Formats: sequence, structure tokens, C-alpha cells
Amino acid sequence: MSDDFSETELERYSRQLVLREVGPEGQRRLRAAAVAVVGAGGLGSPALLYLAAAGVGRITVIDDDRASLDNLQRQVLHDTASVGEPKVHSALRRLDALNPSVRVRAVERRLEAANAASLLRDHDLVLEGSDNFATKFAVNDACLALGITAVIAGILRFEGQVLVVPPAGPCYRCLFGGEPDPGLVPSCSADGILGPVAGVVGSLQASEALRALLGAGEPQGGRLLVFEALRPRLRAVEFERDPACAACASAVAAARR
Ligand SMILES: [Zn+2]
Repeated sequence: MSDDFSETELERYSRQLVLREVGPEGQRRLRAAAVAVVGAGGLGSPALLYLAAAGVGRITVIDDDRASLDNLQRQVLHDTASVGEPKVHSALRRLDALNPSVRVRAVERRLEAANAASLLRDHDLVLEGSDNFATKFAVNDACLALGITAVIAGILRFEGQVLVVPPAGPCYRCLFGGEPDPGLVPSCSADGILGPVAGVVGSLQASEALRALLGAGEPQGGRLLVFEALRPRLRAVEFERDPACAACASAVAAARR
């Protein structure tokens, strides 16, 4: 049944191969999967490590930023030696060292509405961990139009949120509407972030991404996961599709084509 796995693969993935929800069939799915990760920062760091460690076959890292000293408190993919270097380079090096059988591609570009579809097509899933709303909405809209599952997250201070957007929605726009006024948006640089909160939320994203690829557990649509570190607790907030959502309408149109 698992003849197509090498001895190394059988050993490397042994702790997840024994899981009924993974097994050889699930491992083959992961090996055949292509995942794009937008942002190699606080969320992308743990997410990329776990996706590569789990044996996701093809990973594209999209980030246009360079590692800086004030990143290292939470962006555990990078280290002191990588300060000043493009994050996609240190990401590539670290992921290759972790699991050489994963094909990692580095794209040193900023994802925007205009290039989102061309950067994200040909992937099975997109994990969004950027630090800005414009990118989150661009990923949401492009994934719905392309019929790709998106796992979008945000973090601030002691809190984080994760939303899985299935190919047919409901989506990030159904929940949050349009982009907020830039002057009203808080940021990690101004308001702060506790490092492990990024770790928890990025790991939650990786867990949801693997769950989506495996088709394991409960359906993922219409549920915002909220992690609060000071209380501490993880809760799920259910929500419905906004009938007026243009992004979800584009997904319905794409599915009909
Ligand atoms: Zn929507």
C-alpha cells in the first residue's frame, strides 16, 4: 500500500502516517499538493516550517521584505545571520535544511490585487500571513475567482484570528466588508505583538491548511477562529455569506464556467 514511499519518507512522516486521517493516501495528497504562502513573517514562519515538515510537495514563498533585527522576536524562520537579507532567501535555506524533498520556490515580490491571480494560480491552497489588509483582500478575491481555498489570518498585541475561505465562500469580505480606512488600522509595529501569539496563530493556519488538503474533520467554511492569549482561550465565531458579496459572486460564476 505504501510501496511508493522511500524508507526515508516512511520514517520522516511515521508519526502522521499512523493517523487515520492521514495514512498513505493523505501523505500522497500532501506530496502532490502545491501551497503558496503569502508573507514569510510572524505567521508565515511557523506555518512554512510545519507545511514543509509535513511533506507538502511544492511550496511557494511570496514576500518582498528583508529580515530585520526587530523581526526576530516573532519571525522564527529567520535568524541573526539573515538580517538584511530577503526573507524569501532565508526561508528557502531553512526549509531546504528542514526537508530537502520539498520543492520550495521563492518569489521576491509584493502581492497586490493586480498580480494576485497570476502569482497564486496553479496552487491548491493559499496561506495568507501578511501584515496588511490590502493583501488579505487581494488574496481573498483572487482565491475565490480561481477556486482555491485560502487560509487568512491576522494578529495584534495578544490576539489573533484565522479564517478558512473555501473555494465557494463565505469569505473574508462577507465578514469584514471592505478595506478599513488606512488611518484607523492598528499595526504590530505601532501597537505591538507578543511573539508566541504569532506562533500559535501561524500554527493554527498550518493545521487548518493541512486539514483542508486532507479533507479531515469538520467543514471549515463560515467560522472565524479567535485566539486570545490574555484570557486565554480559543473560540469559533460563526458567520453567514453576505448575499451582496461581489467576491463570493465571482466564485459562483467561476464554478459555473
Ligand atoms: Zn464573500
